[in-house]
Amino acid sequence: MSWDLEIRDVSHEYRGNVALNDVSLSFGEGEFVTLLGPSGCGKTTLLRAIAGFLTPRRGRILLGGEEITGRSPDRRPVNMVFQRPTLFPHLNVADNIAFGLRVERRGKQEIARRVEDMLGLVDLADFGGRRAHELSGGQMQRVAMARALIKRPRVLLLDEPLSALDLKVRLQMEVELRRMHRETGATFVHVTHDQREALALSDRIALFDRGRLVEFAAPEEIYRRPNSAFAAQFVGDANVLPVDLVPAAFGMAVQLGEVRMPTPPDPAGGTRTDAGPAWLMVRPESIRVSPVGAGGTSGRLRGSVLDTAYRGDVFSCRLSVPGVPVPLKAEVPVEEGVLLDVGADVDLAWPPEAGRVLPLD
Ligand code: ATP
Repeated sequence: MSWDLEIRDVSHEYRGNVALNDVSLSFGEGEFVTLLGPSGCGKTTLLRAIAGFLTPRRGRILLGGEEITGRSPDRRPVNMVFQRPTLFPHLNVADNIAFGLRVERRGKQEIARRVEDMLGLVDLADFGGRRAHELSGGQMQRVAMARALIKRPRVLLLDEPLSALDLKVRLQMEVELRRMHRETGATFVHVTHDQREALALSDRIALFDRGRLVEFAAPEEIYRRPNSAFAAQFVGDANVLPVDLVPAAFGMAVQLGEVRMPTPPDPAGGTRTDAGPAWLMVRPESIRVSPVGAGGTSGRLRGSVLDTAYRGDVFSCRLSVPGVPVPLKAEVPVEEGVLLDVGADVDLAWPPEAGRVLPLD
């Protein structure tokens, strides 16, 4: 893959407050990358540095092999869509979209043609004559997308563009964003703190924690094989349980509360072999819960139901397990979950490959 956008050793502080700490990552041409992480982890700072709204204290930013670190925003083939679209209220939709090309003094015919293309791209073909205040939130965000894309930027930066929309519109806009990305071929760099949205949209996710890049991989990779307890919990809210790795007859075993189990096989071959404390990750949907003695599970791990919440297709349960200081989260299909009353004793099990041993830090 050829790298389009490269971030090299970038650090930034605001008056002693570290926002980005030695971040390096490269985006492929036409890739859809999401910068994900909790509030304050530096996502917006990096996006603003790519846009040219701020120059990082250290490090370099390259686009197509050319350094753009200190270049002003209007001299980069980069455009940005913000959380709340700022449309010109006195202009109609078509004129809002055309604005950037008018500034460039393009010919009337070219502008008309490109505006029409953009209205089609964002699925607003019949809305060209509407005023901004006559649009819904989702439609305004589509106009903002069209206005940003009409200049054919090489990189489109998206700063939480869906977060102000209600859930139904947001889900629909996710599908639309993917389509716009496919149809334009631009590199999309998207910022969100919504892990579900990041999983749904991205070719790769760059996960940040307190100014540092902690993981950069495809959604399935981060979800199934996170490299840290932080990533396991932030993406998909996995169980991360304190365990001890103890020597056993064949390699190492995992001691969880009062139960000893084999170390999960690591597909990457990176299973730890040294004894001591570690984390064990298990996704809630991998845990099989059944009433004690109902069969189907080994019955080695026992727990009791702390609470359950009905989610339509599953019950989300929290379970207490002797010797384990945190509750286990499990998702139980509704047809099985009706049997699980609060306080009921249950057997728990998961396939060995669903577990993952992670380092303490
Ligand atoms: P959010 O999801 O809340 O927008 P973020 O991950 O985008 O957060 P940034 O906005 O990049 O995070 O902020 C990173 C750190 O820098 C935070 O600790 C923040 O308080 C600090 N920060 C951001 N902008 C400024 C500023 N203009 N002056 C001082 N500190 C700032």
